[in-house]
Amino acid sequence: MSSDDVGAAENADEGPDEAALAVRDTALEGVDGTPTCTICPADADFYLHEAGRISTFVCWEHVSPYAAAVNGTPEDADRPIAVPLPSFR
Ligand SMILES: [Zn+2]
Repeated sequence: MSSDDVGAAENADEGPDEAALAVRDTALEGVDGTPTCTICPADADFYLHEAGRISTFVCWEHVSPYAAAVNGTPEDADRPIAVPLPSFR
């Protein structure tokens, strides 16, 4: 749990999973206590991220509808990534 992982993006061959975990961990460090869902009061289970557009936390119930909602433009079909939080097991 280091806070010095920002340079991980330079490892381009690590794949999106490593990058996703890095941005998730960075976002988690900015949260005071337990992150909660952006839609309901539940504890968050996933971190939703799309570069430059989305950076938020959602519970398992809302991760899919939220992704669909932000994916409303067909020309912009890239879906945000949903990274499970360490507490979601
Ligand atoms: Zn929710």
